[in-house]
Amino acid sequence: MNSVNSDAVKIGHLISGDMVNSGEYRDHVDPGKLSDIVAKVAVGTADDADQAIRAAHEAYLSWRKLEPKARIEMIMKADEVLGDSAEDLAPLLVREHGGMLWEAQTDFALGKGVLQHTASLAETFLEPVHIDDDQCTIRIEKQPRGVVAAIVPWNMPVVLTMMKLAPALATGNTIVLKPSPFAAAALTLALQRMAALFPAGVINVVHGDADVGEALTTHPLVRKVGFTGGTTTARSVMASAAGSIKNVTLELGGNDPAIVLDDADIETTLDRMIPGIFTRSGQICFAVKRVYVPRSMHDDFVDVLCKRVDEFVVGHGLTEGVKFGPMATEAQYHSVLTLIDTTKKAGAGVVELGRLAEGVEQQDGYYILPHVVVGASHDDEVSCCEQFGPIIPVIPYDDEEQVIEWANDSDYGLGSSIWTSNHERGLSMASRIEAGSTFINTHSFESLDLRMPFGGIKLSGIGREFGEFGMAEYVEDHSIRLLK
Ligand code: NAD
Repeated sequence: MNSVNSDAVKIGHLISGDMVNSGEYRDHVDPGKLSDIVAKVAVGTADDADQAIRAAHEAYLSWRKLEPKARIEMIMKADEVLGDSAEDLAPLLVREHGGMLWEAQTDFALGKGVLQHTASLAETFLEPVHIDDDQCTIRIEKQPRGVVAAIVPWNMPVVLTMMKLAPALATGNTIVLKPSPFAAAALTLALQRMAALFPAGVINVVHGDADVGEALTTHPLVRKVGFTGGTTTARSVMASAAGSIKNVTLELGGNDPAIVLDDADIETTLDRMIPGIFTRSGQICFAVKRVYVPRSMHDDFVDVLCKRVDEFVVGHGLTEGVKFGPMATEAQYHSVLTLIDTTKKAGAGVVELGRLAEGVEQQDGYYILPHVVVGASHDDEVSCCEQFGPIIPVIPYDDEEQVIEWANDSDYGLGSSIWTSNHERGLSMASRIEAGSTFINTHSFESLDLRMPFGGIKLSGIGREFGEFGMAEYVEDHSIRLLK
């Protein structure tokens, strides 16, 4: 495919407030229109990472001394700038990562919400704890860790960045961010606007691949790594960080179960569950990845699901009337196609549904139509893996004990959900699920609540994000005791 350089934007590293690059740039094409070069993004090196870290360290020495109030005021202004940036940058993000315009706008809106929420809690969170008795005076302070390396993926890059930047900056750390090469442009432009509101070096961005990621996770001046991405990459991140005993937060993949109980209404369940399966073409860490349905309800459930999904139109995210877009990367496209093929060969009932939007040809982008796997088994590959695409297995079960055992029988433990008309039954079952979050009668963007910690267990990660839970990951407790 011959690509053209239409209005490709040039993106360098952001170091001490300046956009710089003395090295190469790499073309990034629109995954929904492969003939369109969207951006030319700097390909960084370990030296670029080192410069960004040193700039962040220099800024840290005075940033940490500012009153929390002063830092929070700057974050509040950055929050407005990020919100305003959605207008011109959300469409650019769509052309970078293949999402819908509303999904990219949601990414900016959630990012803004995280900045605002964190800033509103930071002053109280940072107040020292005081204990005083006849013997002694104790003060427990929360101190920043230092330079934070934040490494993010391509699927929801804005909010995933803000989930690290907001708690890091509010608590007195400075940051070097490495975006994914598959969604670097809109995010960097937004950060450039935000960085201008802070002292130089507080917010830095360095672009590149695994070698730049490793340069960040091994650097002795980096004291904290906030990582969101795949479990395999996380193993390298953790190993690299071990050299200098850095603190890590890891937000990783999932294989979220949705358990439909026998008292659930199929139509209302699917109203809310379908967005949780197919938003971002299924490329969301806490998307519904396997659905368990009582055997007696299985056929009716699948009929309604397939009928609704068959209405879906798949196409470019900037086109009206489209339900979801292409896979974000060529590797993900091939991985999902291989999974569909393997599932068919294993003998499961794989139903392809929906259609491509008018004027869209298969070869224009990494398009995959929605697929439902009917009568899947709990231990089929398609039920156990993180598909990260528009394919969903529906698995019949016989009783509550069995479905809880199956839900927990996973290497992952990120999100999960229970669907029922009986709230008490849902709440009592939820406590038996092994996961970072369990939602009842919801499992999509609308399930998130900034007052709840977000994160996973087992191979889904370490640590929590949002609010006080997120800020706690970016501070060291410092205990001071005076003996009277
Ligand atoms: P990925 O692991 O391939 O890449 C994530 C980031 O790590 C990118 O910036 C990448 O360049 C960088 N990287 C690659 N190798 C590295 C190394 N050796 N050291 C340091 N950094 C390195 O993930 P992806 O394909 O971009 O994103 C998809 C994955 O992210 C899925 O598994 C998804 O579930 C997960 N994810 C998790 C959450 C969550 O909050 N739990 C949210 C979104 C996505």
